[in-house]
Amino acid sequence: MTNEMRALVKAAPEVGLRMQTRPVPEIGPDDVLIRVKKTGICGTDIHIWQWDDWAARTVPVPLVTGHEFAGEIVDMGRNVEGLSLGQRCSGEGHLIGKTSRQSRAGKFHLDPETRGIGVNEQGAFAEYLRLPAFNVVPLPDAIDDEIGAILDPLGNAVHTALSFDLLGEDVLVTGAGPIGIMAAAVARHAGARHVVITDVNPARLALAGEVADVRPVDVTGEDLKDVIRELGMKQGFDVGLEMSGNQMALDQMVESLVMGGRIALLGIPPGKSPVDWSRIVFKAITIKGVYGREIFETWYKMIAMLENGLDVRRVITHRFKADDYVAGFKAMLSGRSGKVVLDWN
Ligand code: ZN
Repeated sequence: MTNEMRALVKAAPEVGLRMQTRPVPEIGPDDVLIRVKKTGICGTDIHIWQWDDWAARTVPVPLVTGHEFAGEIVDMGRNVEGLSLGQRCSGEGHLIGKTSRQSRAGKFHLDPETRGIGVNEQGAFAEYLRLPAFNVVPLPDAIDDEIGAILDPLGNAVHTALSFDLLGEDVLVTGAGPIGIMAAAVARHAGARHVVITDVNPARLALAGEVADVRPVDVTGEDLKDVIRELGMKQGFDVGLEMSGNQMALDQMVESLVMGGRIALLGIPPGKSPVDWSRIVFKAITIKGVYGREIFETWYKMIAMLENGLDVRRVITHRFKADDYVAGFKAMLSGRSGKVVLDWN
């Protein structure tokens, strides 16, 4: 094996990323080395590409970026058990500590010490990735590398959608980005009655309609009240999945929820935003913030659903060779893409 690799690096505090030659990471006794096959570009990577305030505050330079990946184990530390060379895998990109109360209670996704690959630690946009064996998620044959590369965002969608019981419920998803679209598909798979997805971007709403059996609503031209009537709901939606971070979307969601409705929030507002709390109190609405994936329950459920007919492949709209990463990021920046996958083979 060579000891050099290609990697997409935030090489300096500037806009963009550079393809560079870097040393292959050395693994510790509890790590595996993964030969990366496919990676997904995330909204987070776009922030890092654009080097906005958040990225400048958060990301050390130089850093190999990227956290959505699938690949194959090519080396293992001496303490690693239960995995084997050649094992196809994806993995949890949140590296957790072992000392917090939450971790020691097995609530790994709530560990305050969490560090993210491709954000705080060396990432997956590279030919090789070092990962703690604990974070590895083996892939069954039914899940190919392309789907394996988008399990991180699908996991966000699954974690959000499965926050509340959806069987027989009417579900409103606000925000038809890739994760919103996948959350709508999961809600449908989980037995929701009606799934409505809103956005102001017609391209994304069209994609939502292709990926999942949902009713897309462009809120610039249609009123949710009319949609509620059209679908024969008595009061409104039972469950809201807020995926946009847009304040108007949250207002519309609160307005169109039933008394006692439930909201899972994944979308991140750009700053503080005014919320009509009295409306939320009088409607007795439950709100849950969602971060990352439940480690590893979300992974288990997600893989089981994919093996059981959940199909999100059409959310992948663009595929590029890793060397054509600029085209991949341009597709993302256009605001018209679904998931963009880079091929490292
Ligand atoms: Zn991501």
